[in-house]
Amino acid sequence: MQMNDVLEQSIEKLWQEELLFLKTLGSYESTLGNERNIQYFIEEYLKGMDLKTDSFDVEPSRISNYKNYGKPEWGYNNRPVMAGTFKADEGSSGRSLILQSHIDVVDAGPRSHWDTDPYTPAIRNGKMYGRGILDMKGGLAANIFALKAIEKAGIKLNGDIQIQTVIEEEVTGNGALALLDAGYVADGALIPEPTQHRILTSQVGVIYMRVTVTGAGAHVEKADQAQNAIMKAYKMIESLEKYRRYINDQKKHAAFKEHPHPLNVNVGKIIGGDWVSNVPVECTFEARVGFYPGTEPSDVQKEVQEWLIKHCESDEWLKDHLPEIEFFGFNAQGFEMNKNSDLYKSLSDSHYLVDDEEVKDLPFTATTDVRVFDEFDIPVTCYGPFGGNMHAPNEFIDLNSLKQTTRTIAYFIIDWCNRSK
Ligand SMILES: [Zn+2]
Repeated sequence: MQMNDVLEQSIEKLWQEELLFLKTLGSYESTLGNERNIQYFIEEYLKGMDLKTDSFDVEPSRISNYKNYGKPEWGYNNRPVMAGTFKADEGSSGRSLILQSHIDVVDAGPRSHWDTDPYTPAIRNGKMYGRGILDMKGGLAANIFALKAIEKAGIKLNGDIQIQTVIEEEVTGNGALALLDAGYVADGALIPEPTQHRILTSQVGVIYMRVTVTGAGAHVEKADQAQNAIMKAYKMIESLEKYRRYINDQKKHAAFKEHPHPLNVNVGKIIGGDWVSNVPVECTFEARVGFYPGTEPSDVQKEVQEWLIKHCESDEWLKDHLPEIEFFGFNAQGFEMNKNSDLYKSLSDSHYLVDDEEVKDLPFTATTDVRVFDEFDIPVTCYGPFGGNMHAPNEFIDLNSLKQTTRTIAYFIIDWCNRSK
C-alpha cells in the first residue's frame, strides 16, 4: 500500500477518538486564570503518546524585554505553558517543527444567548458547538491527531516535533513568548488557528488601552450642575469612532488593499456609575486598536492618545479634566510572511493534496501568536479549519473541515520533517 493510503486509513481509524478528545478539551472552561487543569490533561495525554513533556509557569521578569511582551495585570501562578517533544532517531537530519495552539478561550458571555451549554460540546449536523471549539481547540486536536496518525501508521519522521500549548494568546502572547524564551524553538512552526483552509500571510498589530474619565458627582436633582462621567466617556468613545474612520481612510497597506475595512477599533468593556439616581463620578472603558504591519505599537499609542486629548479641547469640562489613558495587555507587532519560503511551499502542497485546489492567502485583521515566532526568526504561519461564531455565542467547528485539517497537517509534518536542514 502507498504511504498516503496508510496515513489516510490511520486518520480515519482515529477519527472517533479525535472527536472525543475535542469534546473533552471543550469541557474545560479555560478562560484567563483557569488554564491549569486542561494543561495537565493534555500533558498526561502526550505522555501516553511517549512524548517527553515539560510544563512551567510564565515568569514575566524573564520575558519583559521582548518587543511583543504584553504588560499583564494579573499573576501567573498555576497557569502553565506546556511542550511535549517527539524525538527523531539519533543522527536524523530532518527539520524540526513546532505545532502550537493556545488553550485559553474568551468568556462565553450570557448563557441565554447559547442554544447549548458552552462547556458541554454538542454535535449537530456535522458541527461541534462550544466555547473555544473553533478558536482553537479544534486545531489543537488536529495537531495531536496528525502526529498520532503518523506514529500509528509507522511512518518514520526525520525531524523532532513539539506539540506546544500556551496561555494568553487572547490577551498578551506571553505564553508563546515564555516557551520560545525557554529554548523550545525549532526550524519552523504552525499554529492551526481557524483560517478556513487559508495560509495566514499577514496580520495587523494590536494594542489595548483603558480610558478613565472623571466627572463631578451629585444627587440627580442637581444633575444639570454636575458632570456626568458616563456622558463624558461617551464623548471619548465618539472620538475613538472618528479615529477608526480616519485610520481606515488612509492609504491601505499593500497586504490589505483588497480588504474593505482592515483596521478595527473596538470598545469592548465599560464600567461606570453605581446608582440610578446618582450622577456618576467615574467611568472607565477599554478599547482594542488595530494597525498595519511595519508600524510600532508605541507610535500608535502616542497617536491615539494625542487624538483623544485633542478632542477634549472642545468640551468645557474635559479640557480641564483630561482623561487618564493607560495601555495594557497586547503590545503586538504586525506580521508579514515570506511567501517564497519553504514553509509556505510545504504547507500549500499539503493543502493541495487534501483540498484539490490552490491554497488562498489570508491577510488577517486580528492578531495571533505568529508574531512571537517572528521575533525569534522562526518561519511560521497559521492554517486551520472552517467554522463560525468565533468569540460569539454558538461557536462551532465544521467537523469535515477538522478532518481535512488533520490530514493536511499530517502531510505537512511528513514533508517538512523529511526535508534536510
Ligand atoms: Zn485563536
